[in-house]
Amino acid sequence: LSPDEFRAAAHSAVDWIADYLEHSERYPVRSAVAPGAIRAQLPASPPQQGEPLAAMLHDVEHTLLPGITHWNHPAFFAYFANSASYPGILGELLTAGLNANGMLWITSPAVTELEAVTLDWLRQLMALGDGWFGQITDTASMSTFYALAAARERAGFDVRTKGMAARPELPRLRVYCSEHAHSSIDKAVIALGLGLENLVKIPADDQFRMRAALLEDAIAADVAAGYHPLAVVPCVGTTSTTSIDPVTVVVRIARRYGCWVHVDAAYGGVAAIVPELQYILDGVDAADSFVVNPHKWLFTPMDCSVLYTRDAAALKRAFALLPEYLVTQTQGDAVNLMDYGIQLGRRFRALKLWMVLRAFGQDGLAERIRFHCELAREFAGMVHFEGGWELTAPVTLSLVCFRLAPSGATEQQLATLNAAIMERVNARGHVYLSHTKLGDRYTLRLAIGNIRTDRQHVELAWRELREAAAAITQGE
Ligand code: PLP
Repeated sequence: LSPDEFRAAAHSAVDWIADYLEHSERYPVRSAVAPGAIRAQLPASPPQQGEPLAAMLHDVEHTLLPGITHWNHPAFFAYFANSASYPGILGELLTAGLNANGMLWITSPAVTELEAVTLDWLRQLMALGDGWFGQITDTASMSTFYALAAARERAGFDVRTKGMAARPELPRLRVYCSEHAHSSIDKAVIALGLGLENLVKIPADDQFRMRAALLEDAIAADVAAGYHPLAVVPCVGTTSTTSIDPVTVVVRIARRYGCWVHVDAAYGGVAAIVPELQYILDGVDAADSFVVNPHKWLFTPMDCSVLYTRDAAALKRAFALLPEYLVTQTQGDAVNLMDYGIQLGRRFRALKLWMVLRAFGQDGLAERIRFHCELAREFAGMVHFEGGWELTAPVTLSLVCFRLAPSGATEQQLATLNAAIMERVNARGHVYLSHTKLGDRYTLRLAIGNIRTDRQHVELAWRELREAAAAITQGE
C-alpha cells in the first residue's frame, strides 16, 4: 500500500464513519443475526495474496455491519451507554497513527505526561481534591483488580513473594461490597486468589444503597472470628439502579478497621462534572482509590477507564519489576507507568480523552450529562403517570428502572410479561434496552448516556414499550 493509496482509503473510511454516525438510525440498534451467521460468511482461511482496502471496506459494510449492535445509535438504552464523540474518534485515529507505546516514560514521554495532565484535569472537573495518582486502564474491571491488589499489598502479608497457598498463618482476607455491587468485584476477588467466600455482600436498604450499619456489624464479626478486613468497595452509581452507597460513612467505618476503600464510580463518577451533582462523590476524597470510566458516560470511545489512588506506592509495590532490558537512565522523577499494573505496553489512550475534555470543556460536558438526567426524569414521569406501569427504583442519575405491573400478577408472571415486552421492543430494532432483577422483581432498565440521544428517542422508546405491552396483553 503506498502512502497515496492509504490517504485515499483513509479519506473514504472517514467519510464512511461520518455517514454512519449521521445516519446510525438506519440500522437496527441490536444486531439481529443468529449465532454463527457472520462467521459463515467469512472465508475460513486467510488470503494468499494481499487484497485491496476497498474490498475490506465493502465487507465491513455488507458482511460485518449486520453483526454490529450499534452502541453509537441514539436509541441505545441498554446496559450503560458508551458512545464515541467526534473528538474521541479523532483521538483514536491519531493514537493508531502515532502508535506510541508508553510502557516507559522514555518510550514516549508525551504518553505518560499527557495521561498525568488529562487525569488531573478530569479530577478537577469532578471537583475532587488533589493528591490522587491516576492511570488509564482498559476497563473498570481491571482498575478494581489493581485497587484490590494494592490493598492486599498494603495489608503486609507479603503475598507478592510468598503467594497465598499453604500459608496457615495467613488470616482470611475479607472484602466487603453491597449486594448490588458489580460482578467485577467478584472477578477481582477470584483473580487475586482471595476466594469468593471471602467477598461479603452487605444487604442494601429499600433504595438499593449499602446499609452501613450492617457493614460495621459484618466487619466486627469477622474481626472477632480472626479474619482480616482487607477492603470495602462502595459504589457510586450501581449497575442495576445507579444507587449511591453512603461513601462518607463507609470510609469512617473502614478506617476504624484499617481497610482500604475502593470506590466503584465506573458509570456515575463523571456526573460530578455537573456542579449541582458534585455531591455524588461526597466522601470519595477520603477513600484510597476509585474508578471512573470515561468510556461509559463521557463520550470517549472504548476503551478508557481511569483508576485513581491515593497510595500509588502500594500499587507500585504490588506490581513493579525491573528486568535489565527495561532499565533506562530516566531523568529526575519520571514515572514509568509499567510499574503500576500488569501491562507493560501502553496505548496512548489519554489522547482521545484529552481531546474530548478540550472539545467540550466543563460546560459542554456538564450540559450533556445534565440533559441525560433530565431526560431520565421525564421518562420516569411518563411511566409514573401511566396506569399499570411502575417505577421500581428511584431515579438518581440517568437510568430509569420500571416495569409493567398489572395488579394481581405474581412476580413470575411479571417477569415473563416484562421479558416478553423487552424482547418484542428490542427485536423491532428501533430502540434497545436491558433488564435486571431487584430482589425477585424483574425490572426493565432505560439507561440514557449516549451523546446523540435526544428527547425524541426517549419518546420513541416509551411509544414502543406501550405498543409492545398492548400487543402482548391483548394476546396478539
Ligand atoms: N462497575 C460498575 C458500577 C458497572 O456498571 C460496570 C459495567 O457496567 C463495571 C464496573 C464494569 O465496567 P467495565 O466494563 O469497564 O469493566
